[in-house]
Amino acid sequence: MKVLKGIQASNGIAIGPVYLHDPEEPWVDYRRIGEDEVDGEVRRFLDTLASVAEDLKATRVRVEENLGPDHAQIFDAHLMILGDAALREPTLASIRKDRVNVEYAFWLTLQKVRRQFDAIQDDYFRARRADILDVERRVLSRLCRRDDSLPERMTAPAIVIAHELTPSNAARMKRDSVLGMVTEAGAATSHASIIARGLEIPAVVGVDAALASAEPGDTAIVDGNRGLVCIRPDPDTLSRYRAEARRFTELQKGLLRFTDVPAETLDGVRVCLQGNIELPEEGRSALAYGAEGIGLFRTEYLYLAGSSLPGEDEQAAAYTRLAEQMAPHPLVVRTLDLGGDKLAHASHATEETNPFLGWRAIRHSLANRDLFRIQLRAILRSSASGNVKLMFPMISGVEELLEAKSVLSEARAELKRSGVPFDEDCDVGAVIEVPSAAVVADQLAREVNFFSIGTNDLVQYTLAVDRGNERVAYLYDPYHPAVLRLIKSVVDAGHRHDIPVTVCGEMAADPHSCVLLMGMGVDGFSAGPRMVPEIKQAIRSVTMEEARAVAEEALALPTRGAIRDYLHGALTRMQAPSRALDELEEEPAGVER
Ligand code: PEP
Ligand code: MG
Repeated sequence: MKVLKGIQASNGIAIGPVYLHDPEEPWVDYRRIGEDEVDGEVRRFLDTLASVAEDLKATRVRVEENLGPDHAQIFDAHLMILGDAALREPTLASIRKDRVNVEYAFWLTLQKVRRQFDAIQDDYFRARRADILDVERRVLSRLCRRDDSLPERMTAPAIVIAHELTPSNAARMKRDSVLGMVTEAGAATSHASIIARGLEIPAVVGVDAALASAEPGDTAIVDGNRGLVCIRPDPDTLSRYRAEARRFTELQKGLLRFTDVPAETLDGVRVCLQGNIELPEEGRSALAYGAEGIGLFRTEYLYLAGSSLPGEDEQAAAYTRLAEQMAPHPLVVRTLDLGGDKLAHASHATEETNPFLGWRAIRHSLANRDLFRIQLRAILRSSASGNVKLMFPMISGVEELLEAKSVLSEARAELKRSGVPFDEDCDVGAVIEVPSAAVVADQLAREVNFFSIGTNDLVQYTLAVDRGNERVAYLYDPYHPAVLRLIKSVVDAGHRHDIPVTVCGEMAADPHSCVLLMGMGVDGFSAGPRMVPEIKQAIRSVTMEEARAVAEEALALPTRGAIRDYLHGALTRMQAPSRALDELEEEPAGVER
């Protein structure tokens, strides 16, 4: 048994066989071909060999210029392998005689060659084996589909272990096929982690050498509650975890009794509690967990989860369905937050050195006006069918907000001209997640109807800690006094201008920090649906006066450690489940549980 430690990304226990996900590994299809396809497949093979040879020659020239002839020699070896009849002839024979597709024929040939090399105990041949692998990868990469999509690659439900899952790949995970998720990279607020929580898939991220520790088909346990992964567990561990998985399910069921009661403090202050969703299908689970509407719809997943850009009608239909489902509660639609780590086929994104500081979110939308107007029109159209609000992500200052609002005015005018109905009073908000926006929040507050604080990004930008980097995850902390002071100043600025301030980052999903935030004056929270009952429990177990006292005390402390310890001590006492449950027992008749 091997136990690996990582970062807790999504609660729960998963037990199952391992699936190692390597998107770099070309995906070799097997297909029988007809006689009429043989010539085409042969041509495809020979053309591919020729184009890989061209690339190798060009690389050889570059390497020779930059590093000298010794380093360039390796490419001569690769070119020789590529031209070797021992690879070419059996592949052609397979295509012609066995009638299989070229990728499979080539892969099969290489398997045989590799086995021959493996049988020779000689350092020289072992080194040549690495060259052959390199050539194999080059040719297969050119021949094969490079679809790294998880559901398509997986053949049975399994625990996925990967180096990293891109947001678009994570968005395609299915709860019935991905039992648990383990990644080597990433941290708790990486988008793959957020999605795993949304899908209720137990997950541990930032696990060093996870891929090298397991073989496909090994049994593994993902302990998302403690951030542990057990590979090939012994029978004792397995049975302990089976029991724990049952207990966890019971605990979750117990929390569901908070679903239908209001998010209200012990002294009767109502707090707005909504759900964050990535995909429209999650709207149902937000309601099922007792969220009063959607406080953050991350619309970029409409793009990332599909293979093409949805048009205006398709987007309008998705927003309208959700708005109707949530009514009379709100649906807050955030305009595209593409870019950063969320690169999309449609965004013409190029790789950037500092993607989180780069061309993303509102910057991307303002640079793609047509795309932006399409989305704004679609959101406005849905406002005719429910309580729809829209908000702009990554606003960094007043000019940017005014520019976004002017595109919104254009979209409004276009709809008016064509006689399309929409809610003229649709609220417009700004996501406050860039420190510069937090500092000038008093100016921004004059221009919008609400603020939603995106703590996931606000923490990373304030502390200069990449939210997706496991190596600096220990520095990523919403309890840093600088973060708390910024949040407080945003709340105060919003309130001075009579606009509500909510929090939609992961900080809202933590039962301790949401009491702290409530005490700081935050008007509402939006969190992953599964967290809603637990947050409600936390809200229901304190008075507003207690929350304010907690906030005052915490804000006066000098370090994140001191704040964390203080909150832990004060709130564990206050949030004893019995307090919230006592209240629940006293709930007026008629409240369904
Ligand atoms: C945030 O930054 O806190 C937020 C809610 O947005 P995202 O996690 O999508 O960046
Ligand atoms: Mg953000």
